[in-house]
Formats: sequence, structure tokens, C-alpha cells
Amino acid sequence: MEYPPAAYASNGILWWELKTAPGTAQRFGSERKAAAWLAFHKKLGDTFTTEELRLAIGVDGKRNDNEHAQRRLRQLRKDGWEIPSVKYVRDLKVGEYRIDTIGWYPGCGRERPKNRSAVSARIRSMVLKRDGSRCQICGVGDGEAYPGEPGSKAAMTVGHLVSDDFGGPGELGNLRVECARCNEPVRSERGMPESPLDVIYAARLLKRDQVRRLASWVSKGSRTRDALDEVYDRYRKLAPGDRNQARSELLKLAGDGV
Ligand SMILES: [Zn+2]
Repeated sequence: MEYPPAAYASNGILWWELKTAPGTAQRFGSERKAAAWLAFHKKLGDTFTTEELRLAIGVDGKRNDNEHAQRRLRQLRKDGWEIPSVKYVRDLKVGEYRIDTIGWYPGCGRERPKNRSAVSARIRSMVLKRDGSRCQICGVGDGEAYPGEPGSKAAMTVGHLVSDDFGGPGELGNLRVECARCNEPVRSERGMPESPLDVIYAARLLKRDQVRRLASWVSKGSRTRDALDEVYDRYRKLAPGDRNQARSELLKLAGDGV
């Protein structure tokens, strides 16, 4: 395939085949490679899949690829690419994206857009502290196993209430702790949203006091931590030896039925 001169970096290598940024030892980011590959292989209205990108830019293997792919698409959107999925364009297949606007890419001759919604380290640590390092969507705590999945380990991230893809700011009021599974880019790519009927059906199966707690979270607009959650968080912060001691005391306190 013949490529125009702009497809090559200053060292004569195609952008998407670079390992390091030209003239430096710095890794050349896969988002940049993806943008360049799309720009020089696709045109407006074409579709692509994350699998196609993965093969084209040959990075990070199969493992964990979904998470990486979502991050890459998100960065493309920040860089001005409009690439709707099946969520917005019904005749697309799941995992397919249509190129409606070509955004920034290496070789385009423009400066890369600034990331306005980035969350500073200070704000990030404030959010983690405020939310007790616990996912505000599913409730899993940092480093805990997901319910019913022993051996799994939840990792926390800070997510936007109003997605930064839609201009949501990186400010305290628009941020909350989310685990990697519930995090907003994953949510926004997971295909069609849930139907309200399904949610109500699931709520009907809850116990009465659970429904009350649920209703209080819904009316406050976020999942609040009660005294029980707080004691559990404090327990989890104990050093391993202290935790063992607290564990046996707590099990004694609870008596039978644990
Ligand atoms: Zn979660």
C-alpha cells in the first residue's frame, strides 16, 4: 500500500509502526498510533472494530484488551473523533464504530487538542477519600473480590457523573469513585442501556429494607455509606495481623449464622 508523506514520522517510519516518539526514548502511545492508522486507512462513513485496531497497531495482546480498547476510543473522542457505536447508530453491529468526524492524528499538521477535563492528582485523592475508596455504583471496595467471584480484585478509578466525552468537568461535584468494571467509558460502550422495566423488576425482588436503602440512594442521587459500610472500611484498613485479630473478634460477636 502507498502512503502519502504525512503517514511517515520525521524518522521515516509509519506513525502506527513507531515504538518510541521520533528522536526520544519515550514510548509512542497506542492512542496516537490508532488515530494515525484510522486516518490513513479509513475515510468518513467507514466503520472499524476494536479488533481491527488491535491487529493493526499490534499492541498489548489479547489480555485485558477490552479495557485498553475502551480507553483508546475514549482518547480518540477527546481528540475530536466522532465515532458512534451501536448505542447511537442502530444499524451498526456490537463492537463496530462509524467514523463521522476525523479528529486529530499524528501527521495532520494541527496541534493535539488540550485535555480540559483531566482530573488533577489532588482532586483525585479528595474523591477517593470522600467516597471511602469504594465504587459508588456497585459498592465494591478497593482490592476486594467481586461478589461470587473469589480471587477477583476490584481496582478503583475516578469517573465522571456527566461523562467528559460530553463536556463534564473534572471537578469534585462531577466526580465519584468507580471500579474498573463500572467506570463510565466501559458503561458508555456496553451497548444498549438497561430498560427501566428490568430495573424495577429486579428491585421488586429485593427485601423491604433493601428497597428503602435503594430509594434513599436514588433520592440523594448517589450511593451513601452507612455506619456498617464505615466500620467495614475501617476494618479493611487494618494491618494484616490486626485484621486477623479483629476478624476473630467480629466473628465471635456475630455468633452463629456467619
Ligand atoms: Zn463497580
